[in-house]
Amino acid sequence: HHAKRRDNSTCPYTQAMHHALQRRQRMSERLSVAISENKLALYFQPQVDLASGQLTGAEALCRWHDTEWGWVSPGEFIPLAEERGLIRALGDWVLEESARQLMAWRQQCAKPLPGRLSINISAQQFADPQLTHHIAHLTAGISPSAIALELTESDFMRDPDQAVEITHTMRQAGYALSIDDFGTGYSSLSYLRRFAADALKIDISFVREMLDNHHDRTIVQTIIAMAKALEMKTVAEGVETPAQARLLADMGCNEAQGYWFGRPLPANEFAAAWLSK
Ligand code: C2E
Ligand code: MG
Ligand code: MG
Ligand code: MG
Repeated sequence: HHAKRRDNSTCPYTQAMHHALQRRQRMSERLSVAISENKLALYFQPQVDLASGQLTGAEALCRWHDTEWGWVSPGEFIPLAEERGLIRALGDWVLEESARQLMAWRQQCAKPLPGRLSINISAQQFADPQLTHHIAHLTAGISPSAIALELTESDFMRDPDQAVEITHTMRQAGYALSIDDFGTGYSSLSYLRRFAADALKIDISFVREMLDNHHDRTIVQTIIAMAKALEMKTVAEGVETPAQARLLADMGCNEAQGYWFGRPLPANEFAAAWLSK
């Protein structure tokens, strides 16, 4: 079944593509089963105030351990879920599980999660005009003031006029909104002003090289200044060293997330590290 060239040899590229397609097909079948059988997990990464080091919230990050493949990266299975029409089911599970976890922490931990739990939303979920109601329904029992929704800058810009409308509905309902991976999505200043967002998350790619590359440092500085002018807070992603944390604090960045402060952890380990006395 391999594609043959005219000389009858198998084309290696076609063969590699065939295997990649086959893997994706099998992966989407297994992912679909994992979603319906409740086999996904949520990990939680702390978000901290850069000036005080205090916990300001957490981000929920989806994890999938497959019996055959082991841990599959969200960088692989989230785009696959989007492509194969599984992202709504996955997104619904993430919202329900987030609410369940917030409730469990309230009952079991010495202190509740301060601030908000950030939940990633993909473009296809965002395209649902009933999204705000849908989220409220799936997270019943949890106040919108305990939740922040994250959408990437490029997803915002897919249909910016619709995004302006939905973001206002969400803000009116009491949810906070963050623009994720900011700096990579080419949004225009005029839209940035109209999106009712509370926070800009500075993309990890700028933070990574910030200390050695003055262009990246300038970009980070510019994002922080822009956010201030638009009355949004800034959250730096991927902070791995104390030097990065110090420079970001000096530049006036409000909050940070990254391995330096804490890796994403399963709910019980997150609670032990961050929600005990
Ligand atoms: P994101 O929302 O920008 O999440 C931040 C990513 O950076 C996470 O990758 C996190 O583990 C990683 N990270 C945090 N601190 C550091 C650090 O110090 N260094 C480095 N190198 N990386 C760090 P992860 O968990 O692999 O997720 C990748 C992307 O997958 C997320 O990017 C998000 O776009 C998507 N994703 C994850 N969970 C969900 C979900 O439940 N729903 C949707 N729609 N997307 C999700
Ligand atoms: Mg995110
Ligand atoms: Mg991000
Ligand atoms: Mg990202």
